[in-house]
Amino acid sequence: KYIFITGGVISSLGKGIATASIAKILESCGFKVSLIKFDPYLNVDSGTMNPYQHGEVYVTQDGAETDLDLGHYERFTGARLTRLNNVTTGQIYSSVLAKERRGDYLGKTIQVIPHITNEIKGRIKKVAKESRAEIILMEIGGTVGDIESLPFLEAVRQFGLEEGRSNVIYIHLTLVPYIKVAGEIKTKPTQHSVGTLREIGIQPDILLCRTEKPLSEEIKAKISLFCNVPQNAVIEALDVPTIYEIPLVFKNQGLDKIILKHFGLRPKQTDLKSWQEEVVDKVLYPKHKTTIAVVGKYIELQDAYKSIYEALRHAGIANDAQVEIKKIDSESVELEGPEKILEGIQGLLIPGGFGYRGIEGKIRAIQYARENRLPFFGICLGMQCAAIEFARDVLGLKRANSTEFIKYTREPIISLLEEQRKVKLMGATMRLGGYPCRLVKGTKAYQAYRKPLTHERHRHRYEFNNRYRRQFVKKGMVFSGIYPGKNLVEILELKSHPWFVGVQFHPEFQSKPDKAHPLFREFIKASMLLAARRGA
Ligand code: GLN
Repeated sequence: KYIFITGGVISSLGKGIATASIAKILESCGFKVSLIKFDPYLNVDSGTMNPYQHGEVYVTQDGAETDLDLGHYERFTGARLTRLNNVTTGQIYSSVLAKERRGDYLGKTIQVIPHITNEIKGRIKKVAKESRAEIILMEIGGTVGDIESLPFLEAVRQFGLEEGRSNVIYIHLTLVPYIKVAGEIKTKPTQHSVGTLREIGIQPDILLCRTEKPLSEEIKAKISLFCNVPQNAVIEALDVPTIYEIPLVFKNQGLDKIILKHFGLRPKQTDLKSWQEEVVDKVLYPKHKTTIAVVGKYIELQDAYKSIYEALRHAGIANDAQVEIKKIDSESVELEGPEKILEGIQGLLIPGGFGYRGIEGKIRAIQYARENRLPFFGICLGMQCAAIEFARDVLGLKRANSTEFIKYTREPIISLLEEQRKVKLMGATMRLGGYPCRLVKGTKAYQAYRKPLTHERHRHRYEFNNRYRRQFVKKGMVFSGIYPGKNLVEILELKSHPWFVGVQFHPEFQSKPDKAHPLFREFIKASMLLAARRGA
């Protein structure tokens, strides 16, 4: 069974979260789900785009650099996603063009319809087969009416025809704005958007209406009539305080029942109680509070560190605490110094990143955390900065740096492995995806994971330079996580500090609201202990 989710009127309505939430309620009815995100841009993947263009790049276990919506999918559901679950126009065209050169279509003229559309449909079938999911949810990026999403919508239309309408559902997410000066809710943008969809040949079965004000039955009746959608399938998607409440919002309006009825399926079970109690209630009514500074360079952008912010919230849930996140631009630390900026903070997190801009600010913030016993969590670039800071200030290697920033630096604390030196192409050539990490007993890392081996996801080129390992250890640095295959440093921590941990991987990609990542959980716990000590 297949569900397609399109968006109308404007972008940023939360289509990814809506899709993840629908998947969640269907999963809670006992069905195995999988999800696909279609991105209509020409990039083959999002790995070569910067966060200002695209927000966070989410990494799957098999090492694909994907759209951040896959992060929502994995956080809300049990689905394990791979490189097949994010389809871009770039991938579709590359594949069709390769087939054309090979002669697969010999004699034919290659066209958007049927060759591109067939390729898109083929991809859906492939996910259906390999995921063995009973229901596949597919989100089409962009807004209906965009030129670039047309081939996807056409493929989706054909798919409904070929599979039979009882096996396919079209859901359209739209905006129903409240116009203050008129004091009225307006349905016209929704009518137009559904009209555009119908011109393409798709009649939506369900409408999700994003709104700031509750929709009266009268408004729903009007939308139903003009959009040709049954009134009970006009679902209100009111703003809520936490995204994790959205599955409940949908379920309370019977969305799961409408979908299953269309498919002729019966729920095998129905269980969102623990989600309500263990996730939503914990977010809404926390007992404690802690404040964490995230010092990065894409701070003004909501989406650049999406998974980090979510993982911090999950760790809050696990510790029954509200985590207030103070987003700080690393360049402001360079200008104003860390003391004032980090005042009243209970923990410092430095996320991943690329390039030299803002690095010195991060290093100063880390030095402050190390010297003032402030809990510190460094992720990827954050861990590399922690190593540079330690080398400069504790080992006295004043010119310590990463070869990413100064290619021929005298003290290359962070540098490229031989295999990365040979890399010429930029796309998909970093150390990507899941790698094993062996944990050293008696360390904070081991305490968090409580097991000798874990798997974490990577996305970086540079590594800790093993030449410096002995010097670091002598001065109290502990290398508590190692990638055994190549003897690479994956986790470092300070012995004589309440909680100072840096990781070369991205733990945030595996955190879930009902199962916080162990390192995030312990980081937040340490920050709360600090607050208790300070009597805050
Ligand atoms: N720029 C660093 C590297 O490539 C860190 C990457 C990251 O933080 N994801 O190694």
